[in-house]
Amino acid sequence: QAISKEARMDQISKTNAPVLENFWMPFTANRQFKAAPRLLAAAEGMYYTDVDGNRVLDGTAGLWCCNAGHGRRKIAQAVERQLATLDYAPTFQMGHPIAFDFAAKLAANAPGGADAKLDRVFFTGSGSESVDTALKIAIAYQRAIGQGTRTRIIGREKGYHGVGFGGISVGGLVNNRRVFPQIPADHMRHTLDIGRNAFSKGLPTHGVELADDLERLVQLHGAETIAAVIVEPMSGSAGVVLPPKGYLERLRATADKYGILLIFDEVITGFGRLGTPFAVDYFGVVPDLVTTAKGLTNGAVPMGAVFASRKVHDGLMVGPDNAIELFHGYTYSGHPVACAAGLATLEIYEEEGLLTRASDLAEYWQDALHSLKGLAHVVDIRNLGLVGAIELAPRDGAAGKRAYDVFVDCFNKGLLIRVTGDIIALSPPLIIEKEQIDTLVSTLGEALKRAA
Ligand code: PLP
Repeated sequence: QAISKEARMDQISKTNAPVLENFWMPFTANRQFKAAPRLLAAAEGMYYTDVDGNRVLDGTAGLWCCNAGHGRRKIAQAVERQLATLDYAPTFQMGHPIAFDFAAKLAANAPGGADAKLDRVFFTGSGSESVDTALKIAIAYQRAIGQGTRTRIIGREKGYHGVGFGGISVGGLVNNRRVFPQIPADHMRHTLDIGRNAFSKGLPTHGVELADDLERLVQLHGAETIAAVIVEPMSGSAGVVLPPKGYLERLRATADKYGILLIFDEVITGFGRLGTPFAVDYFGVVPDLVTTAKGLTNGAVPMGAVFASRKVHDGLMVGPDNAIELFHGYTYSGHPVACAAGLATLEIYEEEGLLTRASDLAEYWQDALHSLKGLAHVVDIRNLGLVGAIELAPRDGAAGKRAYDVFVDCFNKGLLIRVTGDIIALSPPLIIEKEQIDTLVSTLGEALKRAA
């Protein structure tokens, strides 16, 4: 039973003018926001509707998660059915069919296809939990194969791996770490300072040698201390940093050489963002573990999943049969309602060809974005699949201010973009049509002109 438009508009008016002081908002300048709030009340297809009834084109798929667009009836119906059938059941020492079913469907479409054998699936509740899970699996695996001294993880400067203590301990975004000095300090980061791309389209052709920084860290600290290296194949939160051609292959080779596991954090790139189901498929580089979330359920219900290789999984399936192999798990691992949302999401992706649609649109998207070159203060434009970044020159003494002003201006003109520092990041739902790409780019272009 579809929810009627009237019911949804009724919801909008009910949420009008809420009390704002109690919700402590994440990653938000709370006082600034509450002085001039932007409140979204409904969503359908490519558009949000705010509490005043204005339509806002979604240029960011929510937070890189609503890949199939908004208001998908199939997901709503699956969730409603599941809630009425089995609302919750634990997965510790028992199970329910839908969790196994979802894992099997994901395995059939796992990163890298059948040859990659990344088809053992651990469910979590979010991207941050997926990261923590992958780090723990990596360390536990090394120990299980007799490499117990390997407890360090190597992350990357500007890497974003969520906000759990595991994720921030290997993450490289300074603001996320600086007030938490007690986090495990024993991890370290290699560099991916490729500078600006000078408007190069797609992957940078320079900078492959930056992967050799991993070799330097291995020499410095000893391979016998390092369990794994974690990278986003394409990092989103740092402002869309694209890996140079050949870079990921070289990381894989170095990791192999020293018995180090490779983890791809695909929380953003998973489920079609680059025009292939996963970045693993785009780059043809197969890691040992892949973290996902977001597009897994189209953002509709919180959920994450870690894909593990059979090698890693089987390495931990040791000891007596009645012994728990991994002391790790969440109350909501394999939550039946999230699994129902995920299964419906996968069906939509398949029926509508969304996991490869970004590759059909990539050239159009690239041309549209690069048409903004030449506008005042635009110092770089980057793109890959249906991801884009417009980097602005910081205003004197006010880093991030220019991009923030563009963000607010765009929102008021009916376009949602995302800003991180002075970089505008774009990642629309994969259902976007060419005319909507035109609208997105022209609205943004006008805002950039006004900002100049
Ligand atoms: N890893 C990456 C690469 C991400 O981009 C994000 C979120 O943006 C996360 C992890 C954290 O995911 P979550 O916010 O669901 O915990």
